[in-house]
Formats: sequence, C-alpha cells, structure tokens
Amino acid sequence: MDRQRLIIVSNRLPFQFTEKKGKITIQPSSGGLVSSIQSYIRHLNQDNEGITPVWIGDPGVTEKKFTDFYGKRSIQQDEFILHPVFLTDIVREKFYNGFCNDTIWPLFHYFPSYAKFTDDTFEHYQIANQLFSNKIAEVYQPGDLIWIHDYHLMLVPSMLRSDIPNAAIGFFLHIPFPSFELFRLLPNKWRTDILNGLLGADLIGFHTNNYVQYFLKSVQQILGYDNNLRLITTPDRSVTVDTFPVSIDYEKFHQTATNLTVFAERNRIKKKLSTTKIIISVDRLDYTKGIIARLEGFEMFLEKYPEHQGKVVYILVVVPSRDIIAKYKEIKDDCEILISRINGKYGSIEWTPILYQYKSLDFEKLTALYLAADVALITPLRDGMNLVAKEFIASRNDRKGVLILSETAGAAAELSEALLVNPTDRKEIAETLSGALSMPPEEQVRRNTSMQKRLKLYDVVKWADDFITQVMQSKEKQETLQIKEVNDRIEEEILSSYSNATKRIIFLDYDGTLSPIARLPQLAVPNEDLKRLLQRLSNDENNTVVLISGRPKGVLEEWFGNLPIVLVAEHGAFYRPMHNGWEQTISANVEWKEKLLPLLELFANRCAGSLVEDKALSLSWHYRNADKELGFLRSRELINSLNELSAHLDFQLIDGNKVIEIKAHGIDKGMAARLLLENGEYDFILAIGDDKTDEDLFGAIPPDGFSIRVGLTQSVAKYNFRKQGNVIGLLNKLIMYENHAV
Ligand code: UDP
Repeated sequence: MDRQRLIIVSNRLPFQFTEKKGKITIQPSSGGLVSSIQSYIRHLNQDNEGITPVWIGDPGVTEKKFTDFYGKRSIQQDEFILHPVFLTDIVREKFYNGFCNDTIWPLFHYFPSYAKFTDDTFEHYQIANQLFSNKIAEVYQPGDLIWIHDYHLMLVPSMLRSDIPNAAIGFFLHIPFPSFELFRLLPNKWRTDILNGLLGADLIGFHTNNYVQYFLKSVQQILGYDNNLRLITTPDRSVTVDTFPVSIDYEKFHQTATNLTVFAERNRIKKKLSTTKIIISVDRLDYTKGIIARLEGFEMFLEKYPEHQGKVVYILVVVPSRDIIAKYKEIKDDCEILISRINGKYGSIEWTPILYQYKSLDFEKLTALYLAADVALITPLRDGMNLVAKEFIASRNDRKGVLILSETAGAAAELSEALLVNPTDRKEIAETLSGALSMPPEEQVRRNTSMQKRLKLYDVVKWADDFITQVMQSKEKQETLQIKEVNDRIEEEILSSYSNATKRIIFLDYDGTLSPIARLPQLAVPNEDLKRLLQRLSNDENNTVVLISGRPKGVLEEWFGNLPIVLVAEHGAFYRPMHNGWEQTISANVEWKEKLLPLLELFANRCAGSLVEDKALSLSWHYRNADKELGFLRSRELINSLNELSAHLDFQLIDGNKVIEIKAHGIDKGMAARLLLENGEYDFILAIGDDKTDEDLFGAIPPDGFSIRVGLTQSVAKYNFRKQGNVIGLLNKLIMYENHAV
C-alpha cells in the first residue's frame, strides 16, 4: 500500500538553493520549522508505517535556473520531495518584504506604528498566495493531508478549498495572533479576506490559548460567525481552532551534555570566564526581541548592584536577520552604540561586561553556551513562542541555570516556573537578574525539573502528531455536520415511517419554519391555512403536535390557544400541555434581566429600526429592520458587552439570525423536548426548525427520529430543507399520506 503523503507548505523550502554560474548548491535551512518537521518525519519513519513528506515552498532561485540545472520541476532531497513555487523578484519583494514583513509582522507583534498599509503589497500577497495554492492543487493526490504554515500564506486555505473542496487542510500560525483592537487596524477588505482565507482550513492551530481567543473574537466581530467550544460554524462548514504550543526535540537537546564536542566547548567557555557568572541571550536581530530594553535593564543592574561589577559577563548573541531592511539596520546600530556605551562606562582592562557576537552559531556552539550559562535572559517584547527558552531548559541535564523569561513570549504559558518579567520594565529586569544570580541551586533544580517534565512530555513529535491527528478528527466532525438536503428518497422514508407509526410527536418551530420571517416580529401572524393545517395534523389522535418557539406565551396563546396542540414558549421556559394551562418547565434565576434590559434599550436607541423584546425569562434584541451594516456592527458590540458581563451574571447568549437572544441558563428547546419525550413512547419523532436555538431541539431527537433544519446551513439535524415553503409541503403530505394509508 502507498504511504500516506503529508504535504507541508511554507514560504521557503527546507533547503537553501544558491546559484553560481549555472550550478546550484543546496544547504539545509537552519529554521526551527525544518528541524521540527524533520524530527517528526524521522520518528515516524523509524517503523515502516512512515509518511512520505512533500514540501512546497519558494526555492529562492528562478524557474529557469532551477529547471536548467535539474532538468525537472521537482526533486527529491533527503527524505523530502520538493516542489518549488517560483516567484518573480518583484512578487517576492512586495509579498514577502512588503506585506508579510512590513505589515503583518509588526502588526501581529504589537508594533502598529511600524506597519505599512499599501494596497500594492496586499495585491502581491494575493498573487503569491494564489501561486502557492495552484502548486498545491497541482501536486495534490486524494488522501493527502495538507499542512500550511504561517503568516505568509493565510489566504491559501480558502483558495485551495475552492479547488479541492474535500481536502484535509491544517493551518498553523507560528507568530502571535493579535488582540481584536490591533487586528481591526487592517483595512476592512484585507482583514475579511485573511479571516475567510484561514477559515478554508479544517483546523487552525495557534501557540497559546490567548491567540485562540483573540482569533475567535475577530471572527465573531468581523465575520459574525459564532463558535462553540472552539468550533466555528460558517454557513457551509465547521472549522476547529485549537492550541498547539510548538516544541523542540527534547532528547536531542537533553543529550548534548554527553556530546564530547559540546562538553569541551562548554568547559572552554567556563574556563575562560572562570571568575565570573555568565548571563546569556540568543535572539535573531528583530525589534520584537526587546534587545534595547534588555541592555538598559542590564545597565541598571550594574548600576544598582555594583557588587556584581567585574563578577558577571553578559554574552549577547544576535543572529543576523533581515538586516538589509532599514528598520533592522537601525536596531542593530542602536544596540551596538548601547553596548559600546555600557562597556565603556563600566568595563576595565580586566573586564568587559557585555561580550557581543553578531553571528549565527552552529548547534554545538549554541548548546555549549546554554550549558555554560548561569542565567538565560530571554525578554522579547512579543514572541509567538520562543524556542531558545525551551532549548535552554531542555539542554540542562544538570537541571541548573535560571531562566528569566518575558511574560509576553508564548513560551511563558508553559514555562511558568521561570522568573517571568515585563520586558519593558528595566527596573524589574535589573532586580530579577540580581535575584537569579543568588538563587540557591536546590531551587534552580526544583524549577527546572518541573519545566523539563513538561517539555519532555510535549516534545516536537507530540506537537506535530497532535496537530495532524486533530486535522483528521475535525474532518470527521464535519461529516456529522454535513448538509444533507431532503430529496424524494428521504421524503419517502419519512412518510412511510409516519404511516407505520402509532404514536407520533412532531415538534415545529414557528418563525422561519411554519411562517416566513417577517420584517417585524408582530407582523408574522399565522394565516388561516396554517391554522387549518395544524388543526388537521392534530386531528389524528395518534399525533402530538408541539409548537416550540422563542415567542412569549401570551402571543402563542393568542394565535394558537384554541388548537389541540402543545405550546412551548420562550425557548422552553414555559409549556402548555394539550388541554391544560401554562406551566414553567424549570425554575430559573433571572436577576440578570433587570441589569441587562437598560443595556439592550440603549442599543435599541443607538440603532434605528432595532427593538427589544422583553419576555418573562428572556430578552431579545432584534435588528432585522435596522440598516444592515450598522445592525451587524452594533450586534457585535452588544455581544462584546454581554460577554464581559457574563462573567458575573448567570445567563446564556445566542447570536441568532438578526437577533441576539439572552436566556436563563439551563433553558433551551432541547430541555423542553426531552421533557415531552419522556412522557410517551413515541415511534415517530419529527423536529423542524430554522435557527440556532433549534439546534438544541435537534440534539434531543433520538437517532431513529427525524430532524430537519430549514436553510442549507450546517446543523446537527439529520437533514436540511432548502426553504421554508418545503415545511408546509411536507406537513401537507403527512396529512394526505395518512389519509391514503388508512
Ligand atoms: N538558533 C540557531 N543558531 C543561532 C541562534 C539560534 O540555530 O545562532 C536557533 C535556535 O536554536 C532556535 C531558533 O534558532 O531553535 C530561534 O527560534 P526562536 O523561537 O527562539 O526565535 P525566532 O528566530 O523564531 O523568532
């Protein structure tokens, strides 16, 4: 059997291609993603049920040079099959340096003032994403799993989805997802395109729970899609969003102390600096890494704690990155000026406080540095994760060394035993450095043991495996939510089950199901035909007809009071058995009503055409009649305010079809339906509804019953009707069918 193929898609291929006089040389890329994926693939391929990795990305050389040299457009290198996406210099410049690094990178790292908003670069972002999508579609074979990486390719999932509707697509973001207030700074079309682009995936992964929450909020505020337990429901699909904190190859780092070259290098550093304690930091050159504030913190430390002068060195490793970009060059110059000033001010012939290296270190040198350090000072202003912090902890098999870590690095969520600092607070950095240098060894061991345990448990193999397993699971979840329109065969099945049954119950929602949605709730008065239809359906003594609605009981009583049917009002809060008076289904706490009513009224005043419906145990704010855009905007604001209040008040919120419903906890149509189902042994159960509140009803219908959602929307209902008129059609057939069958 052919092996499962994993298609990995990232901006760059995992090898650097360099062309000189028509000859191409290849060097493995040093990036974290490459080594993570490599560790995962090697782990899987240890046994024979491996996976075939296919990698799609920019090779960095032109199509002509590539094909002239290789004579083909894809090659095998080590374990990977490589499919290059060729970008012209101009596309690469505007897409990568432009939109990716001048817009998304600063904005998503909370540097909005560095972000440029240029239409031209966004257009090239679209062009480049389309080229990636086309390449994936060309390479794709049924059964492949596609894993798209990072902020360069956020439009690809939906582009690909329109070409290959059933593909299994996962997307992982390696940088932070910013709070809504920052994300909304993107022009409307860009932010909408980016969110819709990502929602083409089956699974979207982030490093931390905060990033997940910020993303869910942006989707809700900008696109209006609700979520439940991290499952977003779009009109035609469901998308899972979850946390997968990227990790490292724990064992590879943990074993370094037994590597003789590493250990010799570590000893060499220790010997050279034998009279001093060693503080280290390792960062790529980037304004997000907080190097300036950190240097100022170190300076304050020397000033405040002069007893450490001459007894501590700070080895500052900065890895060259993007230094042709003006902003990066500026940061480099600023760092170097500051380093010289501090060294000049505090240093002496015998002692240089900061040992600065502007270069990349190989694995042995880097890990030797980790092993030699007394303190690792890692204080990025923002960082999606920060692997250096994890590598430092993992490599210390003596379990010593103190990690000082920025609270705004993604890694802080997992490394809570580190000394967490605010990276802009120079004073806190200075004080924490002093504390770290005097931390007793037993405490270092205690803290590092806990962190090591966690890193070992969730290493990079687990990270990748977890992500891929969840892509599969979200595909399965979607299948249960698949839209399945009622066709002749299904209708026949319903009709024959109906005619064979002797005790039937039929749950019918009102607005949007029995009656078309009206502009104003009070206009949706039932006509005589409908009442006659319900009367005829309930004439059969084997039938229990239940009208189950969000409407208040007074309205249902007025419209349907004289029919021999069961009425359920306010989404299950009240019900009226066939020949009795109204009863409350369960007792509910509605203290929140009094507090929320003024808020809803305020929104009704601020949004012409919207109105508040005040019911006994629930409140609704309808905005169907308001200006479309203003109504939507205000509805998002209302949800936002209500979400904040929900921490203190006990209510539940439903973001319905042009209505925001607020109900007491525990009350829903599902609860009411279960109550009625318990009272009889029904051999035919049918439920029809059209809105989110009906999903609870569908969830209460046993597997051999029938449930139908009106509208071609994803639902837990078994089937869908295209339009409201189909409901009346089916009910008429039930009556006729009964007459024929008898
Ligand atoms: N790294 C390296 N050589 C160096 C410095 C760093 O190979 O001289 C590696 C380091 O081991 C880590 C990665 O570069 O895996 C940096 O990842 P991190 O998440 O800390 O920062 P990023 O560069 O992704 O912002």
